[in-house]
Amino acid sequence: MRNIVAGNWKSNKLMVEARELMVAVSKGVSIDGLTDVILAPPAPFLSALVLEAPENKSISWAGQQCSGYEMGAYTGEFTASMLHSIGVRSVLIGHSERRDKFGESEEMVAMKVRSALDSGLTAILCCGENLGERESGGHFTRVMEQLTHALHGVSETEMADVVLAYEPIWAIGTGRTASADQAQEMHHAIREFIKENWGEMIAGNTRILYGGSCKPSNAGEIFAQPDVNGGLIGGAALSAADFLAIVDASDQSLREIQ
Ligand code: PEP
Repeated sequence: MRNIVAGNWKSNKLMVEARELMVAVSKGVSIDGLTDVILAPPAPFLSALVLEAPENKSISWAGQQCSGYEMGAYTGEFTASMLHSIGVRSVLIGHSERRDKFGESEEMVAMKVRSALDSGLTAILCCGENLGERESGGHFTRVMEQLTHALHGVSETEMADVVLAYEPIWAIGTGRTASADQAQEMHHAIREFIKENWGEMIAGNTRILYGGSCKPSNAGEIFAQPDVNGGLIGGAALSAADFLAIVDASDQSLREIQ
């Protein structure tokens, strides 16, 4: 199975800088690498970048979020189907910054997953506990609760279009990374959860990404874990050199098991 390394540019860059970053990443990603690279720039740049991107079959585009509603009177929202219509192929859903800073409830996250899947997008569903939940030992319960809500009603066939991203909130943008063991332990629990709900084959085929201060210096160790299938990268995705080094670490981790 191919890994995924996804770059979440968050609310960063102006158009000229976004274009420069896209060009540098496109040039650096090998077309015969073992990793699918996904870029999630700010929404205003998506359409232009998708059109201008040099041909590279290893790279595809993602929205950083989408509406949970279909088209209609929802000022400021954009739908999953709109993203799909401009050539975007996936969308981040339930990122902790959306949940915590913009009040996205479990119900809204579930609506967005439904919208993404109905529109033909891959849902990159983020989950993860906060520091209090980790320190009190409630992290597994929290993550499984999030997945239970968000994936309610998702069929076996639809699971092919779901990617999970485990992102402990205490590690996002803090410079503090989960240890490789902590990542593996949670990824394994997530895979078991998928197995219980959709069966062994789907569990084996679902890609589970790690996110949280992943950088060139720690990516190799994290990606070497058996249940880690790549990463969702925030800060380090803003530098082409760092992001490409993380993509290389992912390729390398797969070459070692081949
Ligand atoms: C993220 O926000 O998805 C993320 C992983 O951020 P960072 O890599 O900066 O911790």
